[in-house]
Amino acid sequence: MKTSIATVSISGELPEKLAAIAKAGFDGVEIFENDFLAFDGSPADVGRMVRDHGLEITLFQPFRDFEGMPEPHRTRTFDRAERKFDIMQQLGTDLVLVCSNVSPVSQGGIDRAAADFHELGERAAKRGLRVGYEALAWGKHIFDHRDAWEVVRRADHANIGLILDSFHTLSRKIDINSIRSIPKEKIFIVQLADAPLIDMDLLYWSRHFRNMPGEGDLPVTDFTTAIAETGYDGYFSLEIFNDQFRGGSARAIAADGHRSLILLGDRVRRNPNTSSLTVGAMPERAAVKTVGFVEFSLDDTDATELIALLRTLGFRNTARHRSKQVQVYSQGDIRLLVNTERAGFANASYAVHGPSAYAVALAVGDAGEAMARAVALGAEPFSQPVGTGELSIPAIRGVGGGLIYMLDDKSDLGRIWDIDFVPVTDEEESQPAHLCGIDHIAQTVAYEELLTWLLFYTAIFETQKTPMVDIIDPAGVVRSQVIENTNGTLRITLNGAENRRTLAGHFIAETFGSGIQHLAFSTDDIFLTAKALKQNGFQPLHISPNYYDDVEARFGLDPELSEWLKAENILYDRDEYGEFFQLYSGSYGEGFFFEIVERRGYRGYGAANAIFRIAALKKLIRPEGMPAITNRSSLEL
Ligand code: MG
Ligand code: MG
Repeated sequence: MKTSIATVSISGELPEKLAAIAKAGFDGVEIFENDFLAFDGSPADVGRMVRDHGLEITLFQPFRDFEGMPEPHRTRTFDRAERKFDIMQQLGTDLVLVCSNVSPVSQGGIDRAAADFHELGERAAKRGLRVGYEALAWGKHIFDHRDAWEVVRRADHANIGLILDSFHTLSRKIDINSIRSIPKEKIFIVQLADAPLIDMDLLYWSRHFRNMPGEGDLPVTDFTTAIAETGYDGYFSLEIFNDQFRGGSARAIAADGHRSLILLGDRVRRNPNTSSLTVGAMPERAAVKTVGFVEFSLDDTDATELIALLRTLGFRNTARHRSKQVQVYSQGDIRLLVNTERAGFANASYAVHGPSAYAVALAVGDAGEAMARAVALGAEPFSQPVGTGELSIPAIRGVGGGLIYMLDDKSDLGRIWDIDFVPVTDEEESQPAHLCGIDHIAQTVAYEELLTWLLFYTAIFETQKTPMVDIIDPAGVVRSQVIENTNGTLRITLNGAENRRTLAGHFIAETFGSGIQHLAFSTDDIFLTAKALKQNGFQPLHISPNYYDDVEARFGLDPELSEWLKAENILYDRDEYGEFFQLYSGSYGEGFFFEIVERRGYRGYGAANAIFRIAALKKLIRPEGMPAITNRSSLEL
């Protein structure tokens, strides 16, 4: 698969864009005319700069309002075309994109358009150039790739071909089977973009909300599969208009783009009819069996405080690391590692972020294969020296520079607790609180990183994302998105914080970066758990009594139940699948907390309750410094 990206997709000046695109591993780049209009150099300079980065110019664009023009516009339009051809020759590219005409003076008629393209083909051929025609979804007469193809077919010229763009086809829900009958040599290039499903004007949607394949909701894989079935083996080029991307980090956006194409290629390759697409084979997405452990990096003082909290939650010290200052606290299938090492990565993480849950271990079928896939998709592998005889656990860098360790049962990794750890007997008594596993891991990231991590998790692990619904909410301060697998063994809620006045934003600012903000444990019996927690002296987050009047009325709860919920500070929710109970700890450090949930068939994350929890937590953290919450639009989970 030959990969390309349009310069318009990312931020910065042209030299910065090209450096980022080359670094991300693309083969080619589409040059927008504006790029060198704003750049202090000639088209020839731009061409040289591109080639110095080892990139090819795949396309020059745009050439607008060409076909179907009446005189005297028609003559002027052809003159304009000749000037574009001059620029292309100086740039060193042979392909120009002509998008379908939106001019109110343009005239319809397939044959008229075809005749114009035939003449343009003649002029292009004299210079050894090619012209690709793209149907804009909002073109005046041509807004469907099937009609654009008919124009190209009737133009009947070797130098005239078709450009397919997933957004224009999919936004209009045009049948992609129509692509399969187009001869591959007439497809000059393919442009790709995804987008979240939003009901809005096509032009506005396209210019502001496109995103990388896999980040949105359009069937880009099906579109690409149809193209690959024609035998097309040319460039797949990202053309992403997105305000957030244009304001983001060029390097990060380019890396996401490349990852999205590699992932797309892998998805398409798994279809038996698409042998034309050559992409590097990689193992399938890793199915996560369970969260093996979560590791905190702390100093001794912080550790004492955390351990005291863990004891009230019913955890007991069950093991210690053979050679490192790492203690294991466990309950049910949950293992929490408390790392107070004065050296190594955990310590470095502590120095930067303060106390945090910096590492998560995921048990998969084959850790080696999971690593191979992650690395093929551009994840950064991590390793550090280990003691003699100890395991070197494969890992990649994740959110906030933290670690994701991979465990499996195939190798010695399955015996990690015997090899690296020794059992200990906890002297202090605390009553088990019937916690059985990790229900979900909530990570808070900067708003502009949300799509990056969404793509990261769904690319590497067998997971789905929930549809992104809350796109622009002027009052909304946090956007939430869930990544989960079907059996619920991996659930991650990602919260994107736009500003530091939000609890999530405060967390990012105070912990110097994105990371895990809360861990939710599961229980099979919230009643028993609440009772045990009370005996352990656990201090739940105090929820406003007003909440319980509301919840009793909203769900028609038995007053006895709502009284009990109030007494125990338990939050309640219900969906079409069942009931949900949530109990929170107070805040630890700068906004970290624990949650305990019981799901009785319920599939959500208690989004409706988040507002009450955030209000309660804010009271605890900064009584005077942070503004109160004034709206209920936040979906922070
Ligand atoms: Mg396009
Ligand atoms: Mg939660």
